[in-house]
Amino acid sequence: MPGKEQQRIAPLPPRIIPRDQHNISRSRIGPNVLKVLYRLKNAGYKSYLVGGCVRDLLLDKQPKDFDVATDAHPEQIRELFRNCRLIGRRFRLAHILFGREIVEVSTFRASHDRARAHEGHSAEGGRIVRDNVYGDIEEDVWRRDFTVNALFYNIQDFSVVDYVGGMKDIQRRQLRPLGDPDQRYREDPVRMLRAVRFAVKLDMEIEPEAARQIRERAPLLEDVPAARLFEEFLKMFLHGHARDTFRRLRDYRLFGHLFPAAERAMTGPSGETARTLMTQVLTDTDRRYREDRPISPALPLAALFWHPVQELAENHCSKGLSRIQAMELAGAALLSRQIKSLSIPRLVTATVRDIWEFQARFEERWIKQRRERLQKHPALRASYDFLALRHEAGEEVGELVQRWRELAMSAPVAGNRQRMRQDGHRDGRRRGPLGFRRGRGRGGRRGRGDRDRRE
Ligand code: ATP
Ligand code: MG
Repeated sequence: MPGKEQQRIAPLPPRIIPRDQHNISRSRIGPNVLKVLYRLKNAGYKSYLVGGCVRDLLLDKQPKDFDVATDAHPEQIRELFRNCRLIGRRFRLAHILFGREIVEVSTFRASHDRARAHEGHSAEGGRIVRDNVYGDIEEDVWRRDFTVNALFYNIQDFSVVDYVGGMKDIQRRQLRPLGDPDQRYREDPVRMLRAVRFAVKLDMEIEPEAARQIRERAPLLEDVPAARLFEEFLKMFLHGHARDTFRRLRDYRLFGHLFPAAERAMTGPSGETARTLMTQVLTDTDRRYREDRPISPALPLAALFWHPVQELAENHCSKGLSRIQAMELAGAALLSRQIKSLSIPRLVTATVRDIWEFQARFEERWIKQRRERLQKHPALRASYDFLALRHEAGEEVGELVQRWRELAMSAPVAGNRQRMRQDGHRDGRRRGPLGFRRGRGRGGRRGRGDRDRRE
């Protein structure tokens, strides 16, 4: 008896949407991407755009990046392109380099079932550790997360190829996982975060059963590796939709499994202030994103754990430490605990700690010379911004905001000092355990996460 899964992956004829019935025009695809697509096609291989770029083009949005999928194997791809580099040990992918731009080409891969049958790599609870087997387009389609992310654009005839009803879901703006949502979330719990992120960013509804299952399966997030979670955190909180994503994460009860201490603060006695502060900070982050100003994860993180860190610091104070010392200790302790589940880079934790310590410093009456020394500190501006956001959120720090305004505003622009690359390396395209690209740069433009927040 074929199981549900096997029936699902049996090849069905796709719906082919011809060029005159969709809005994807080649003029919106970068010239280098087109070059890659055509060269593969002219060499006799299948050559498609796939994933988020097809979805975004259909929604009339400019894609962040373009992914090419083909039946050519990596070595065959390398033979076609001099400027090609193969990456990934377990699952090889081709990067075609055009100066700073990289076009990523992946070979069709088999569905999880076949990979599992071949390799037997499924961790407890159904989580997939590797999937590593080349397949064809009919198989490649089923390993993707949502129907809207599983559409192919065929350079052969400019049609859109739809095996899963993704086009209809785009039209009715529905986010529907491929296959059984429960199973797909168990395979990879990050898909629940992706569901929320896409729902917000694309203004789509999550299909009701898939939405219900998120609430049920939220605890699975606790098993996601810390590095992967941080990358997802950046996508959720630094890409222009942080405020709404935060709200939805709480609605879906995902937030508490990502940040238990922050969730406790948000439901505790000063819950309203904690939620308001978070909302203020994220609204500010979203505004900066829209205005193309520098942003870094330090401020959202400082806000996220502001109430828990204060509570810890108060304990230290009651044992006789000064506010500043107490905050120093509390910040270090809290972050070293947090990085076990969310691997925040050192440069970022250092800034978060500075911001917290500055909140205690702002309370002291500094003599003029010492104030001027503080002015040179690279975290002064961000710390002051945080103080001002606390004030806006209803904390009684109005007087401090006044007192420090002039000094903070004349602080040097520190944007060039602690520049970091959170979006990965030069190629920015490391792969997760499932082989999907994560944390990539934004071809051409520097990733917004690259820049530190001060200006
Ligand atoms: P974004 O706009 O955030 O880049 P995207 O859909 O392009 O959205 P990517 O992370 O770039 O997302 O992944 C590209 C494609 O790879 C997705 O469209 C999807 O088909 C597939 N994919 C990525 N991550 C997963 C996952 N965790 N599970 C299944 N498929 C995935
Ligand atoms: Mg993408």
